[in-house]
Amino acid sequence: MIMIKGLYKSFENEGQEVEVLKNVNLTIEDGDIFGIIGPSGAGKSTLIRCFNLLEKPNKGEIIVDGVNITKLNGKKLRDFRKNMGMIFQHFNLLQNSTVYKNIAFPLEISGYSKDFIEQRVLELLDMVNLKDKKDAYPSMLSGGQKQRVAIARALALNPKYILSDEATSALDPLTTRSISDLLKFFNKKYGITIILITHEMDVVKEICNKVAFINNGRIIEWGNTYDLLNFPKSIEIKQFVNENN
Ligand code: ADP
Ligand code: MG
Repeated sequence: MIMIKGLYKSFENEGQEVEVLKNVNLTIEDGDIFGIIGPSGAGKSTLIRCFNLLEKPNKGEIIVDGVNITKLNGKKLRDFRKNMGMIFQHFNLLQNSTVYKNIAFPLEISGYSKDFIEQRVLELLDMVNLKDKKDAYPSMLSGGQKQRVAIARALALNPKYILSDEATSALDPLTTRSISDLLKFFNKKYGITIILITHEMDVVKEICNKVAFINNGRIIEWGNTYDLLNFPKSIEIKQFVNENN
């Protein structure tokens, strides 16, 4: 379970402090597929990057399974991050490495043996249905295949959480559906909790049991997906949902 309490984040911009997250409070329960929606520049990526401390908040607490992670550093932070796989809009694959090497990468830096890595990578390739692409390079793959490699890499260390920042935004609708189905499958089968940013309402409706709407650094409303999309209390959400449907 992840509890966010009173989170603030600001960036220095041309000598000025710009507040990007303002008193964010959220609870994400184990097993959730938790959507984060909101206009561009709202602070969604900054928020999700705080979850694994890629961004360090200025104030507030992020309590993951009972531990306030904002205080972690060194080996404890590295160990904690193994529990959080991350996937991105542009896949962030190593272009000069094969599919096999891309997926093996987190296992290699964690010091696993060659035999263990081989067994695990083959298992992961099977899970994302890419066994036949083991020796291919990313440039030879379709967008959907690249994202499946990224998902396999994110799952390599058996994380409890997956953070997904617009992972389907570069994909066509059919491929988007296959990737969101795959995320849902891993959520159901392995109980992986998924936190995902998207601007696609279809993805939210298909797979998210909860959703938070963020605007201008503040959580405007969050809760059960059906209620938030159909009976929002705020006019901003109504507009956003209509514009993105
Ligand atoms: P979203 O993902 O919702 O589009 P972001 O979290 O990327 O929003 O950005 C929120 C705001 O924070 C934007 O105004 C953006 O310009 C600013 N921002 C994000 N990262 C940085 C940074 N590293 N330095 C300065 N400003 C940043
Ligand atoms: Mg973003």
